[in-house]
Amino acid sequence: RVPVPALLQRPADAIARPQQASHPKIPLPCDLFAPDRRNSRGIEFGERTALDRLLADIRNETLDLKPVADATPDQADAAVAAVRAGFAAWSRTPAAARAASLEQAAHLLESRGAHFIALLQREGGKTLDDALSELREAADFCRYYAAQGRRLFGSETAMPGPTGESNVLGLRGRGVFVAISPWNFPLAIFLGQVTAALMAGNCVVAKPAEQTPRIAVEAVRLLHEAGIPADVLRLVTGDGRIGAVLTAQPDIAGVVFTGSTEVARAINRALAAKEGPIVPLIAETGGINAMIADATALPEQVADDVVTSAFRSAGQRCSALRLLFMQEDVADRIIEMIAGAAHELKIGDAGDVATHVGPVIDQEAKQRLDAHIARMKKEARLHFAGTAPEGCFVAPHIFELREAGQLTEEVFGPILHVVRYPAEEFGQVLAAIDRTGYGLTLGIHSRIDDTVEAIIDRVQVGNIYVNRNMIGAVVGVQPFGGNGLSGTGPKAGGPHYLARFATEQTVTINT
Ligand code: NAP
Repeated sequence: RVPVPALLQRPADAIARPQQASHPKIPLPCDLFAPDRRNSRGIEFGERTALDRLLADIRNETLDLKPVADATPDQADAAVAAVRAGFAAWSRTPAAARAASLEQAAHLLESRGAHFIALLQREGGKTLDDALSELREAADFCRYYAAQGRRLFGSETAMPGPTGESNVLGLRGRGVFVAISPWNFPLAIFLGQVTAALMAGNCVVAKPAEQTPRIAVEAVRLLHEAGIPADVLRLVTGDGRIGAVLTAQPDIAGVVFTGSTEVARAINRALAAKEGPIVPLIAETGGINAMIADATALPEQVADDVVTSAFRSAGQRCSALRLLFMQEDVADRIIEMIAGAAHELKIGDAGDVATHVGPVIDQEAKQRLDAHIARMKKEARLHFAGTAPEGCFVAPHIFELREAGQLTEEVFGPILHVVRYPAEEFGQVLAAIDRTGYGLTLGIHSRIDDTVEAIIDRVQVGNIYVNRNMIGAVVGVQPFGGNGLSGTGPKAGGPHYLARFATEQTVTINT
């Protein structure tokens, strides 16, 4: 067995996350192990680490895990009507006041960090480092959109014009936004969508995934506490049917959706079929994400980055690696190293701090993944199969395909597909990536600048990562979103995102 590469033992974002994107109250994973010998009065008391304290705080949290009732269609209608009534006042609220509420929300999130981590672990099945990263991302979204909102909505832009005329361009909220989110980032994506829409001056009705309503209930409560009025933000729980009721509402001005391509299409059709104003859709969807490793790549680093990208979060990230293309000269060595590293992963309870790969979200997801594994066992060459405990767990698997076209849809779990290519057929690799129709993330491992530039130039992919792993986009650092089947293009956590939630208004005055 090949030993686990050293980098694998550190969470990915302990390496990648720049210091300025972090906030002191949510520890970085790399800080968790630093011994702290003093209590708050400066008295020495031993070897407790930040991790010990955090784990104790998480254990002491009492969670309300009672089932959350589904909303009825009438309640969904009433929620839209309620926030519609709140729009006039909210859209006139100064951008600085809206931003202050988001900053307060970030502060509350951080001060209740242990509570939200415990919830993310219990309801969302997150490992400790995934829950920590998600909490930081959620707080980052609140602060980043507050800062961007002050800049974009705080004043109007003076435009050039002839003498005797003033021309200004301003951004304003559209009206009622419906925000529909997935279960895989039940706090960060939920809050990211909602805070972006609110900061742009919209009122919001939010529908979380049916698997993670409790986290949404608490996130909305926190936003109300932070100063967002009740008639500006409402939560509607339930499954996709209640989502469809919301998107069919005559009175909505926009939809922001994160989830599967299939559901994005259904929403797009529903919006197109409506009478009345044309309702814009911001869709952030899935991907068949690829990585390319050529013969100049460093196998140790490729193995480390592949294991992180394909298996972290049990592969339940939209950015996760699904299809690894390896130049045939290095393929055997890379497969051997990935399999060796995957063998060392601990699969099990998300609450156990030693766990690398936690559960998949539910039995339905497990059955879908098990069926894919069974199919692959017949149609592809199995290089590695981990062992998972009883329950909602799926062990990492590595299958070698004859050709990339054997993978026709996003497989949302810890299953890696590899394909080898001869150097002279490199162009076909890029054509195969194009043929998937998706364009979310792409990894490149190569030490040849011309190769890297040629790939970047050629592919239509939203987020490209060179010589590193391809997950864990940081708010304000790696604006995130895809093209084609992966979405309509806006970049969450980027400087242009808020403008997508707004209308523009030009005012010309004859002075
Ligand atoms: P999903 O099945 O598409 O569901 C997403 C949301 O849509 C859920 O709240 C769902 O409700 C709701 N929904 C289902 N049918 C609907 C309809 N007809 N009208 C309105 N809403 C409807 O996706 P998921 O399984 O939760 O999440 C995993 C997917 O999200 C993957 O494809 C992943 O790649 C993608 N994703 C993309 C990004 C990105 O930024 N590009 C980020 C994260 C995840 P219920 O689930 O309650 O039925």
